Order: sequence, then structure tokens, then C-alpha cells
Amino acid sequence: MRRAVFLDHDEPAGSSNLGKRRRAVFLDRDGVLNRRRLALVRKPSQLVLLPEAPEAAARLSKAGFALAIVTNQEWVSRGYIARADHDEVMRRVVAALEDAGAKVEGVYAALTPETAKPRPAMLLQAARDLGVDLAASYMVGDNAKDVLAGRAAGCRTVLVDPRLRTAIQGANARADHVCRALPEAADWILSRA
Ligand SMILES: [Mg+2]
Repeated sequence: MRRAVFLDHDEPAGSSNLGKRRRAVFLDRDGVLNRRRLALVRKPSQLVLLPEAPEAAARLSKAGFALAIVTNQEWVSRGYIARADHDEVMRRVVAALEDAGAKVEGVYAALTPETAKPRPAMLLQAARDLGVDLAASYMVGDNAKDVLAGRAAGCRTVLVDPRLRTAIQGANARADHVCRALPEAADWILSRA
């Protein structure tokens, strides 16, 4: 008996559609779009957007990059963050970006460790959903896990680090570019586009 092969969603390698695939910027959330808190962003009232982050996202969007948020939120499955609060924080982050003119095409939150960064699961899913060429795309994050996930997915990686403390981020965080925050990350990405 032949094994069934399902190609409805997965295009074979070498597909003629490859040339039409889009570039994306995958954005980590906490520490890139909003202020990272030592004790997690557990409640909507704790959400503080970072200066100029929404505008920087809008510049990437207007340059043709598909934007997707990819965030580890496994504290939800551990009970530290209520699902309703998580959803409301995310809704507000997306609204802030869209108010600035950014188009957020995907929101991926790993609520359990299985799909969390440094695994590339969310990026690979987003690439399938949005028709993205990973080799022409970027992952922007503030943690070694973001860099490792981006590299595992085959993307270029940008580490944003307000104090440029890259040594603390770990030797494995070999980002293609390190800068202070998302506006500078956008400058670098757009300078390469
Ligand atoms: Mg982060």
C-alpha cells in the first residue's frame, strides 16, 4: 500500500512559487515592542510600549515586509498569566502597531514550552501561513533564544539590547547585527533591503 502524501499546504522544494515569496520580519514582543519587566507582563495595566517601536514596525511594513509577532508566553500554561490577560495585552500591542500604520499579519504566542523559542516552530509556522522566504527574512529579539530560533529557521537575526550587554546574552547568541532597539534594527534591515 502506498503511503499518502499531502501537499495541499506544503509546496515541494523548487516550486515555481518560490520566486514570489515574501520577506518577513519576525518580532519578539517583550523587550522589543514593549518594555520587558523582570516580573513578566502579567496584566494589561503593566504594558508599556517602547518609544518609536510602533513607528519602526510601520516603516518595515511600508517597505514590504510581512510582520509577525513571535513571543514565548509559556507562563500562561504554567498559570502565572491568565489567558484573558495575555490576550488583552496582545490585542493592545497589535493595536498600537496598527495605529502607527504597521500591518501585523500574524501573531504567534507559544503558550507551552514545546513550541517556544529557541525552537523555530513559530517562525516555520508563520512562514507557511504567510508564504515567506525565510532566507530573506529577519528575526528581531532581545534574548539569546530569539537569535537561536531565527538562526534555526534560516533567517538573519538582530539582537536588540538597550545596554548592549551582549556578553550576558550568551556565547550562542551570534546575531548578525546588534543594536539598541527596534528603530535601529529597522534602520539596519532597511539599509540591506
Ligand atoms: Mg523578549
